[in-house]
Amino acid sequence: RAKQAGRNTICFHEPDQNPASGVLRLEAELHTALAQQQFELHFQPQVDLLNGRRIIGFEALVRWRHPERGLVSPLDFIPLAEETGLIVPLGEWVLRQACAQGRAWAERFDPDLRIAVNVSARQFVGSDVVRTVSRELERSGLSPRNLELELTESMLMHNVAQTVKRLGDLKRLGVALAIDDFGTGYSSLAYLRRFPIDLLKIDASFVRDIGHDPDDAAICACILAMADALRIDAVAEGIETEDQLAFLRDQGCRIGQGYLFGRPVPAEQATALLARGAA
Ligand code: C2E
Ligand code: CA
Ligand code: CA
Ligand code: CA
Repeated sequence: RAKQAGRNTICFHEPDQNPASGVLRLEAELHTALAQQQFELHFQPQVDLLNGRRIIGFEALVRWRHPERGLVSPLDFIPLAEETGLIVPLGEWVLRQACAQGRAWAERFDPDLRIAVNVSARQFVGSDVVRTVSRELERSGLSPRNLELELTESMLMHNVAQTVKRLGDLKRLGVALAIDDFGTGYSSLAYLRRFPIDLLKIDASFVRDIGHDPDDAAICACILAMADALRIDAVAEGIETEDQLAFLRDQGCRIGQGYLFGRPVPAEQATALLARGAA
């Protein structure tokens, strides 16, 4: 029983308690965390692979600074936040912080700097995401061309007619749209053409095995060729080695993200990277 609890990263309950009470406690803690500003954003550089690892933008990634447990990974609370609906206010908080930070960086360092923000299914399907994005752009003064929204394939395929309308509305605001974790979902190429998408993010699981799994290397090459044919940019995620980088660059990938260039770091450290000019 204790072993079971230990393996479950979501439940913080004692082994002799009802597992459901652990989830309830976590849910209550998440509400407190939002009210008490225990969340923070870290930023991971996205670099130009053809130009000396110049930083072209950052992905904003949320963390929870828990009073006892320290820094908690989003993998341990985003699913529950999504299930309970707390992701909507949390997502708005993320968007607000990211826009404010992006505005400061764009002004100080690079008018073209991109700040990428993850949008959850619940935000995209079950809330007025267009109004929220529009409001946060206005409030922060960030230019829409500096903002990129990352969406996953599964949330786009949920209701295609609504997706086409929402994506169109978001595009009209002037923001860039990316499909995250590309290749792991079930989007069809036909729909991909109907969606006004600017970027595909090749999922890290394909990048990881480029060196040992010919199928994964072929999938990366194939996604890059397809993106090129559709005139969509591609970002490779989870680049950790020089060999992966060399392969992706050879296949025409122009943007990269991964530990090879930099882990997600707090805003001050990201500012230092920008001041230095490269990751
Ligand atoms: P994601 O959107 O696919 O984000 C990329 C994840 O891969 C991040 O994990 C990042 O730290 C990690 N990563 C980046 N480079 C490498 C690498 O070279 N090697 C390896 N092994 N990992 C790498 P993180 O920050 O733990 O976030 C996990 C997931 O949580 C994200 O996956 C995203 O789905 C979700 N998430 C994070 N922040 C937010 C947010 O603000 N809103 C929403 N809705 N989801 C978020
Ligand atoms: Ca992402
Ligand atoms: Ca991803
Ligand atoms: Ca594999």
